[in-house]
Amino acid sequence: MRLINNLYIIFLGAPGSGKGTQAAYVAQKLNLVHIASGNLLRQAVEQGTELGRQTRSYMEEGVLVPDPISIRIVLERMSAPDCESGVILDGFPRNLKQAETLDKVLAREAKAIDKVVYIKVSEKGLIKRLSGRWVCRSCQTPYHIISSPPKVWGKCDRCGGELYQRPDDTMEAVKKRLEVYFAETVPLIDYYTRADKLVEIDGEGGVDEVGKRIVAALQAEKVCG
Ligand code: AMP
Repeated sequence: MRLINNLYIIFLGAPGSGKGTQAAYVAQKLNLVHIASGNLLRQAVEQGTELGRQTRSYMEEGVLVPDPISIRIVLERMSAPDCESGVILDGFPRNLKQAETLDKVLAREAKAIDKVVYIKVSEKGLIKRLSGRWVCRSCQTPYHIISSPPKVWGKCDRCGGELYQRPDDTMEAVKKRLEVYFAETVPLIDYYTRADKLVEIDGEGGVDEVGKRIVAALQAEKVCG
């Protein structure tokens, strides 16, 4: 796959839809920077920074951190030199306020979001995926005990880091995160449909199968060749 233009692509989907895994895969294929807001926030919590102290309780509860914080960290990351040819955004925007702010900031530089890849998975599938999820503490690569287990149990295939279960993958926090998703993030589907930017992908099936669907859809949309 090769890039046709500077690209700004958003991956949208419920927690557990596989959007993080697919965003990382497509970013690698297109040689674009993958910006996952949840990963940026988790790193801050792990490192015990001021930002981490401000956001920890929201994240553990499964609710959104305040907009000024999430918007600032993502825009700061997007302004780094390695993001000049575009980025893949994963987990951001998460509500209308974030989406509108992002549009305004990009418009100031005569840029715009090109496509929004919406990965659709049934609610039953989401809970199944989230309850078996383990993540690398160092590089954040996600694994699943059944669908994508690591080669050596407890160790990351990519960097050898320790795998752990996210504190917000408990049943209670998962329920809260899904509630937040339906209340705050789902309206973005309509927002980007009206802007004619939404590309809906069937997210049921294996990682490779869904990945192939996304690549084919982006090629059909002439986003990449
Ligand atoms: P994720 O890794 O995308 O599932 O995000 C984990 C948690 O980080 C979420 O439940 C929120 O608490 C927080 N978070 C991630 N992205 C955002 C965002 N764009 N806006 C607000 N909170 C966010």
